[in-house]
Amino acid sequence: MLVIMKSNARKVQVEAVLAEIERLGFRGLPIPGAQRTAVCIVGNQRQVDDSRILSLDGVKETIRVTRPYKLVSRETHSQRTVITVGGVAIGGGRPVIMAGPCAVESEEQTLAIARIVKQHGAQVFRAGAFKPRSSPYTFQGLGESGLKILAKVRRETGLPVVTEATDHHNIEMVEEYADIIQIGARNMQNYSLLRRAGLCRKPVLLKRGLAATIEELLMAAEYIVSEGNPNVILCERGIRTFSDNTRNTLDLSAIPSIKEVSHLPIIVDPSHAAGRREYIIALSRGAVAVGADGLLVEVHHDPAHALSDGRQSLYPEQLAELMKDVKALSALAGGQR
Ligand code: PEP
Ligand code: MN
Repeated sequence: MLVIMKSNARKVQVEAVLAEIERLGFRGLPIPGAQRTAVCIVGNQRQVDDSRILSLDGVKETIRVTRPYKLVSRETHSQRTVITVGGVAIGGGRPVIMAGPCAVESEEQTLAIARIVKQHGAQVFRAGAFKPRSSPYTFQGLGESGLKILAKVRRETGLPVVTEATDHHNIEMVEEYADIIQIGARNMQNYSLLRRAGLCRKPVLLKRGLAATIEELLMAAEYIVSEGNPNVILCERGIRTFSDNTRNTLDLSAIPSIKEVSHLPIIVDPSHAAGRREYIIALSRGAVAVGADGLLVEVHHDPAHALSDGRQSLYPEQLAELMKDVKALSALAGGQR
């Protein structure tokens, strides 16, 4: 439930509302707006009796919020969230391209690919130092030494870096090195990790779980925001369906659906959705055409020898083509934002 204060409501009146909410056994979160303050009631599993709240001075009305997420909802925050990282605005109307290898494999490999990413005009560099792999016998990432390589890449190219925190043990370290902390699909419902990410000061890139509904994705984002980190970028990366012609099925309808109900930016990862480089450019065009705020794509200078996800990694010249197409299409998609 939302308690909407009158535009001339005073601070003491907002405080009285917060006290009443607490007395009812809930938590109140004031959301100051340009015109008026709204107080969001969180933690209410049951119906809130708003009769006493409505009788308080300075209260204009209450609005029942039927959706279970509140802080990430457009109902509480109608303006779109724009997240600026290293001078790059994510959600600002121009699709942001985040590109790089699946994993940091070595300093030479990472720097070589970062130079290609920079040369082609992508704005953010991606690469995992901690890799959540389906098999414990495959390459698990370089860990902290991989993060140090990423810091070097940023120094050399000036590109901000997005890299994944896979658990509670490494999130603090990842936060030190990363510009954006990625939470992977497999961790979308790791609630303690989400809460921990909510304490971070860096933006979080939250990927949709393999079998997660849009509501579940938004509830996961709500965990992060409710702990105090408002900077969450959502990412559609394909979901599991009966269709087996691609690694996962890219759900492009998630983009307009999420934009309808949430103010958070949403980007698309066509690489993990398709699993094959042949489809990435077409899917990227589709993503931008439906209004995605950006793309997260894998690219490798030598995909045949990549330690992970080589098959879905673009060749450098394909990244160049993708960048050209995105530029042309983003003007058309502008009306949907
Ligand atoms: C990745 O981006 O490298 C990754 C592991 O993605 P996902 O969590 O979507 O599988
Ligand atoms: Mn990958």
